[in-house]
Amino acid sequence: MTVTSGVNPMATKSFFGMTLADVEGHCRDFGVSAMHARDLFRSGYKDGLLKPWTRPGLPARYAGFCERELSSVNIRISSEFVSQYDGSVKFIVELSDGRMVEMVLMPEAKRVTLCLSSQVGCAQACVFCHTGRMGLVRNLDTAEVVGQAWLANQWIASRPEWLKANRLPDSQRVTNIVFMGMGEPLDNVEAVARSITIFTDPYGFNLAKRRISVSTAGHLDGLREMVKIHPDVRLAISVHSAVDSERSRIMPINRRWPLESLVETLRELPTQRENGLLIQYTLIAGVNDSVGHARKLIELIAGLNVKINIIPLNPVGPSRLRCPSSADLEAFRDEIHKSGHRVMVRYSKGQDIGAACGQLVAQVNATINAP
Ligand code: SAH
Repeated sequence: MTVTSGVNPMATKSFFGMTLADVEGHCRDFGVSAMHARDLFRSGYKDGLLKPWTRPGLPARYAGFCERELSSVNIRISSEFVSQYDGSVKFIVELSDGRMVEMVLMPEAKRVTLCLSSQVGCAQACVFCHTGRMGLVRNLDTAEVVGQAWLANQWIASRPEWLKANRLPDSQRVTNIVFMGMGEPLDNVEAVARSITIFTDPYGFNLAKRRISVSTAGHLDGLREMVKIHPDVRLAISVHSAVDSERSRIMPINRRWPLESLVETLRELPTQRENGLLIQYTLIAGVNDSVGHARKLIELIAGLNVKINIIPLNPVGPSRLRCPSSADLEAFRDEIHKSGHRVMVRYSKGQDIGAACGQLVAQVNATINAP
């Protein structure tokens, strides 16, 4: 697949790609009070108005200007699949140029986590990841990232039966956002950081920063940039191997930023020392799943404030990589547990609907996103 990168060439200026400061500037440029920006944000994010400038009370000439100049949510849900056993919902989202990405809603007790995409495809080429096989097609822009959360909230509001089935109140909205869908978010820092500004704006989605997690394969330039803009966003680091030569084989990004530079950078982040980091470790049979590998991981993270999530590999496509046996999985987990670290085994959600790690959209993309 050819790599075109950049953003969507069809994009127009969308309201949903603008931060509150941008909207205030837009008001001022037109000569109306910047106070209107807050009302516009409330209409767009709290009331869920598709065209926030149609709200009553806005000066008519300015509303007309917005109508001519701004576009609205520029993406749509193309299909949805509800898991019969854990209630998670997988969406295929169509972007304005016809490209497809995935997002997943995961209901839990008292919260709903949304897993978002930040790129069409991904440049990192991790061998176990379906998205990685596509190569990078392009970055999502801010409006496409924010639009996913906007669509998810609209979907939730229109599905009382789903809320009821998952024992959630009618007023429930997305409470947590994880950048764990398609793409490497720190390879698209500008759009991801701007979307976090909108997610955490009190007049926007009003989410606390600790409810937003950015997952990275270890893109250190992006990481440094991100923590400059949002020092207290949660970070999830996909480690997957604590042995450099082995990690380079499964995660090519390790050749550019090996483990030592990764850990050194993590140690230098003051807020992460305080709030803690999430370490993700996808367990692959015969590749990184021995007790010896667990010990290496313990050595690597010594002195870091971390919680470890072990994810048994979700085998994808024709790959020969396999999920570990339950005995190996338990031995690996127990070894880490004995070292005193907090460790959880996380199974990918929605296995019955292909919600796990890029499975479904990869099939769709194979035809639709082809150049
Ligand atoms: N680029 C980001 C987000 C990727 S998806 C990152 O690398 O962190 C989120 C997590 O799912 C990552 O830890 C990724 O390595 C993992 N993952 C990808 N494919 C998987 C698979 N087939 N089975 C299990 N985990 C997988």
